[in-house]
Amino acid sequence: MSSEDVECSSKTKRLHFLLIPFMEQGHMIPMVDLARLLVAHDALVTFATTPVNLNRIRPIIDQATASSLPIRFVELRFPVVDVGLPEGCESLDLLPSLDLILHFLNVLSLLRDPLEAYLRIPDKAGWPKPACLISDNTHYWTVDVARSLNIPRLIFHGPSCFFLLCELLINRHRAELEVAVAAASDGFTMLQGLPHPIRVSKHEVMMLSSSDPDISKYMGTIRVAEESADGVLVNSFMELEPWYFERYREEKSKPVWLVGPLSLYKEELDVKVARGRASSVDNKILFQWLDRQEVGSVVLVSFGSFVHNTMAQLIELGHGLETLGRPFIWVVKEVVDKKVPGADEWITEFEKRVEGRGMIIRGWAPQAVILEHVAVGGFVTHCGWNSILEALATGVVMATWPYLYDQFLNERLVVDVLKSGVAVGIEPTYYFDVENRNEAEVKVRREEVERVVENLMGGGEAGEERRQRARELGKQARTAMEEGGSSWKGLQDVINYVSKRQRKYQEANISFE
Ligand code: UDP
Repeated sequence: MSSEDVECSSKTKRLHFLLIPFMEQGHMIPMVDLARLLVAHDALVTFATTPVNLNRIRPIIDQATASSLPIRFVELRFPVVDVGLPEGCESLDLLPSLDLILHFLNVLSLLRDPLEAYLRIPDKAGWPKPACLISDNTHYWTVDVARSLNIPRLIFHGPSCFFLLCELLINRHRAELEVAVAAASDGFTMLQGLPHPIRVSKHEVMMLSSSDPDISKYMGTIRVAEESADGVLVNSFMELEPWYFERYREEKSKPVWLVGPLSLYKEELDVKVARGRASSVDNKILFQWLDRQEVGSVVLVSFGSFVHNTMAQLIELGHGLETLGRPFIWVVKEVVDKKVPGADEWITEFEKRVEGRGMIIRGWAPQAVILEHVAVGGFVTHCGWNSILEALATGVVMATWPYLYDQFLNERLVVDVLKSGVAVGIEPTYYFDVENRNEAEVKVRREEVERVVENLMGGGEAGEERRQRARELGKQARTAMEEGGSSWKGLQDVINYVSKRQRKYQEANISFE
């Protein structure tokens, strides 16, 4: 037997996972991490997405190729122009307008043809056919692909079990909640049946129970597809939310596996800094600057890949950081994506005023690696689930500044349940109200920015207790991802489940190949 034959036969024995991420950075990034973790668990992975998204993760692809990792990155042509979307709009953050989102979601099924065409090509390298399809829950159309391959289909869920359970309860009790929020003078009501007092707003009830008929129709399709899935993977860890995990699992009556925080996968620094996209900053200068700061002294301010601040809000936030008198890193993507006119000029002036104490990153920052640096002690975050989990994984306390969808409930988890953050105090509103977007709108005044961040970084005894809890959670997160830890076992259980299903099919003589 030649070494190639040995290599080939060892591959045929390994399980092959087909991964289909949703095209948005907050979904794409953890799926890439998941791909690498599956490989670390001795699986083969095909990662299929569109050209623009593959280009964004080019450094990861190059590194995987250079290290001969068994991950195939497959390009699926997404005919955006044919369906009236601008050229290159292959990710949610690239859409020129928020009112195109629903259309974008509705045309995701166009990926089915190129995927099926790819799957029909005979494999020359001796890889077995996929044994399992893992898709983001937005890709409802993968139900039929998995069925035609006769393999299990697992759903990958971005947010926590806490959020997933709350969302489920909001949908179930929509009518009562609508009455309760309408009657409440402050527009809030409490969610019943949870071990913590969790309040929700009128806007969350509307948003999460999809009161808009078009969104409701789309969500209905997603839910039906989710019902037929064989299991659910969640980027979270048991120690973080045991009660919510158990309750969510009971509700789902199908396997639910916790496999995170996925950001903690072991990787070399130069690859990890390009996680999601190439960094917009000279990483050497960034980390030299961080190395010069005192342990736990730096505040990171970043709002993820999608939401935008108005120009007026950027100015208020900047002034707040300027008077704060603590070192900070501020990621201002509004400068490069040109969605906020005037941001560039203002930031250039601001940068001069805070030179030495404040670092501005225009565009994309190596966020997970910055959070891992010992100098970083606090994080002002928009409460995207990945950002929260990355902060929890590194034991960093948060000032929560949510904008939309799951972010307000993520805030409740951090502030009310985990008690490792402070709320900036954002009033929930409908972010997608494009027509009424007011560029002069300020949600948080400069004095408030200064007060909240000072409380976060200092805050006396209460602040120290918060930091202590955050450090403890960080330790638990790392243990969960180490060999034998709860999330490590979670992923191993996924592999065992797929392996068992494959054996069962083979014994029943149902073709898997
Ligand atoms: N991210 C990053 N650099 C940036 C902005 C975002 O690395 O400049 C990463 C961040 O670490 C996280 C993801 O992008 O992994 C954003 O996901 P999240 O769920 O926090 O928010 P979203 O972007 O989906 O709103």
